Amino acid sequence: MQTEPAARRPIHTAVVLAVGSEITVGETRDTNTGDLARWLSEAGVEVAWITALPDRLATVAAALRGALDAADLVITTGGLGPTPDDLTREAIADVCGEEPSVDPDLVGWLRHLFERRNLPFFESNVKQAWLIPSASALANDRGTAPGWWVDRPDGRVIVALPGPPSEMRPMWQNAVMPRLRDRGLGRERVARTLRLTGIGESAVADILGEALLRGTNPVVATYARADAVDVRVSAVEEDGRPAEEAVARAEATVLAALGKYVWGRNDDTWPAVLGRQLEARDWTVALVEGGTGGSTARLLGDATWLRSAIASADAGASEAELTDAAEQARSRAGATLGLAVRTVEQGEDTQVELAIVGPFGIRQSVVTAFLGGAEGRRRAGIAAAAFLNSILRDE
Ligand code: AMP
Ligand code: MG
Repeated sequence: MQTEPAARRPIHTAVVLAVGSEITVGETRDTNTGDLARWLSEAGVEVAWITALPDRLATVAAALRGALDAADLVITTGGLGPTPDDLTREAIADVCGEEPSVDPDLVGWLRHLFERRNLPFFESNVKQAWLIPSASALANDRGTAPGWWVDRPDGRVIVALPGPPSEMRPMWQNAVMPRLRDRGLGRERVARTLRLTGIGESAVADILGEALLRGTNPVVATYARADAVDVRVSAVEEDGRPAEEAVARAEATVLAALGKYVWGRNDDTWPAVLGRQLEARDWTVALVEGGTGGSTARLLGDATWLRSAIASADAGASEAELTDAAEQARSRAGATLGLAVRTVEQGEDTQVELAIVGPFGIRQSVVTAFLGGAEGRRRAGIAAAAFLNSILRDE
């Protein structure tokens, strides 16, 4: 393994460990690792993995060793309290091959905390004043357990934080982040999301192919969300190649293969994407839907361009009647466009019939939404938004 002087080893990767049997028995929900993973990712540090561990010395020590083999930074939360089952310090000392000893300054600070509150000082507390030679204390303004910052000879860092989120968060923000930044934290990272509709996640994966989806820089990943299949492209700068360049190239590949399914980017939502196009033309919409449980109106929300939204048990039984319903809704509301949506259960799926009337005339479409019942109705709303979007794009 490559060894760099401590001050020079940049921190690109991290492992986060949650220590505490209360987590592994399912009594406490681990929120710390998710918070830390988010903060690290925002800082451009790749989290290699996250693990929850019981209060067992051998298990924690083994996890620390494995993490130190793989990452520049290892963060633990929990196990810093005064009781015998709090043994994160022991595990770190074991892995570093060092002996803990009581730090006079820390024990003085700790005794003072108890005196201040007129509480007896139990000897079990002394453990919280331990340090090993390669550790320095991280101040805890909200509790009695200081954290540890441990510098390894190869430049890796172990950071031990307390379990209670109210202590962990300020310690991270005030004591850890500034020190990590000094050290050279993270790499420039660029990420972009393409939002797709009208195609399933497995078909997307199939078209993109394994080579692209298994790449590590750029990373191309698919996510099935409620309102879209997302393709996320992200990259870090590597060997002088800027992250933006790698992302742009991968994005062009994805667009070449799947561009016709893309309706939005990054944080786009259906109302936002439709709203941009409608507002640019100063167009408004009147909606009438039947058999959808009002899912189209719910998806679109209270957008200003949505003049009226009517849920009707019968939005017209035939194609002509569906078009009539769209036209009536439009003229009644004085809107530019009339959109009518109707669903019919079709086996296990839902048939969605759509009609739009507008300055361009009449447009109709029939699509099948996956699944029936409430999920089919929810998807019918997305099909309606996608239909409106495709027409706005073409006009
Ligand atoms: P400890 O430092 O292990 O004694 O943890 C003290 C308390 O902090 C626990 O009893 C939990 O309430 C809370 N805690 C510990 N670990 C976590 C975690 N990963 N996520 C959220 N809360 C935690
Ligand atoms: Mg604990």
